[in-house]
Amino acid sequence: MSAPRWLFWHRRDLRLADNLGLAAAAAATAALSGVVVLDPAELAAPDQAPARLWFLAESLRELAARWQAAGSRLLVLQGDPGELLPRLAAATGAAVVAWNRGVEPAERERDRRVAAALQGDGVKVLVDWDQLLVPPETILTGGGAPYRVYGPYLRNWRGQVERRAIAGELDLRPAPRDLLDLDPAALPRPELWAALPRLEPLPAAAQLAAIASGSGPLQPASGDGRLLQPFSGAELCPCRPGEAAALAQLDAFADGGALASYEEGRNLPAEAGTSALSAALRFGTLSPRQAWAAAAVARYAARSDETLASISVWEQELAWREFYQQALLHFPELAAGPYRPQWRHFPWENDPTRLDAWKAGLTGMPIVDAAMRQLVGSGWMHNRCRMIVASYLVKDLICDWRLGERFFMEHLVDGDLAANNGGWQWSASSGMDPKPLRIFNPATQAGKFDAEAAYIRTWLPELAHVATPDLISGQIAPLERRGYPAPIVDHKQQQARFKALYANLPRG
Ligand SMILES: Cc1cc2nc3c(=O)[nH]c(=O)nc-3n(C[C@H](O)[C@H](O)[C@H](O)COP(=O)(O)OP(=O)(O)OC[C@H]3O[C@@H](n4cnc5c(N)ncnc54)[C@H](O)[C@@H]3O)c2cc1C
Repeated sequence: MSAPRWLFWHRRDLRLADNLGLAAAAAATAALSGVVVLDPAELAAPDQAPARLWFLAESLRELAARWQAAGSRLLVLQGDPGELLPRLAAATGAAVVAWNRGVEPAERERDRRVAAALQGDGVKVLVDWDQLLVPPETILTGGGAPYRVYGPYLRNWRGQVERRAIAGELDLRPAPRDLLDLDPAALPRPELWAALPRLEPLPAAAQLAAIASGSGPLQPASGDGRLLQPFSGAELCPCRPGEAAALAQLDAFADGGALASYEEGRNLPAEAGTSALSAALRFGTLSPRQAWAAAAVARYAARSDETLASISVWEQELAWREFYQQALLHFPELAAGPYRPQWRHFPWENDPTRLDAWKAGLTGMPIVDAAMRQLVGSGWMHNRCRMIVASYLVKDLICDWRLGERFFMEHLVDGDLAANNGGWQWSASSGMDPKPLRIFNPATQAGKFDAEAAYIRTWLPELAHVATPDLISGQIAPLERRGYPAPIVDHKQQQARFKALYANLPRG
């Protein structure tokens, strides 16, 4: 008797190596096919980003080649997974569909729907965690509640990760090999197979945008009529798509010195001091275990306390990622608005001219504008600058943080609901973070972290001639501006104004 066919549904795990759900499926049967379902409803999300469509399309191309090299194939379908996966299982006679779990509310709702449809047809469903080092249900406070505060979460998380590593639970799983492909000529239900909306050849980024629009090339893709332009920042984007590039980036970061000096280097936006692996972790072209293993190797080879401290700080960033994911899983209401109830009453001013200036990188505050140009131009922004521009939008321009959260999602290649929402609520002071009010002075931040204004000059080349202190303070003489605006607000005044509005909020 031939081996029973299984299907593995890739979602945010676009890799073959160290993929827990895939490894479990491959251990059960060699007759394994991969499937990706491109749902126009998801692609057409109003906050879709051309950069993410690019990263997705390019990563799919490599994933399909890897499936082929492993002896089988990746099927890419277009439509609703709740409808298509049962049809595909019936067409191929698949007994089981396996996938890795996610934390986003809409994702979980969709998965429940897909699982019910498959089970209704008698197809088994196998699901487990893959995208986190510690499964979120197993990391709880002493009282059995989910964590709301990062510090104690980190302590528990680190202990659990280290225990799991010693127990071999984080050992990397090899990519499956010697798989058995399906034979389209010998399928149990050829008429169902023929009717499947398969995307062959694989879609390019422009086609993904077209699918999202439900029409021809690059029409309005999102629900609100926003035009999805093709991504033009691929060359500037530091995040590279595909499994091979993610591993190469990880190696370069861990072996090339940036990890060893991460504690300091991570704060300097003019330098490549961070891993730029956020999109790889977001799309799962890299697993968190691979990231952790690279840090463990570096730790073993470390020769100084500074290097060891840097490795620990980088691991703490991986913990932030998991903290926000478990928070979203346990508190899905985070996605809807401020976690702290009093922030629902904040009298945001939301001045459209100021908001537009922020989006366009024309606020007259060079560090803010450089960062916003990096976001729009490359699909990515340095973490230090994400914090600066977020604080500026909320506390200097007095705009609702959700407007910034949305704009980030429309542009970020690594745009991720849990991390983005977590970062914005942290910056707005509306989240779980116990510090009540955090206000960044953009000039002080620039002076500290871009002291030579190298980052500012990179992204604002029209100001290359301006003296460094003026670029940092934003106090540029009118003649030197050459069309660049004067600051649209005064930080001191706005800070006082924001504090006064905050003081009137109901406590609680
Ligand atoms: C307002 C705001 C919005 C953000 N939006 C996103 C987002 O949509 N997607 C996203 O992945 N990150 C987001 N971040 C977190 C952080 O800025 C990025 O993860 C980081 O800049 C990515 O660069 P890197 O890969 O070089 O990170 P590294 O410094 O090399 O860190 C390694 C990895 O840890 C994770 N990580 C690092 N910092 C954080 C953090 N503060 N929160 C959660 N995970 C973290 C990322 O997966 C990152 O790739 C946001 C931060 C802020 C302040």
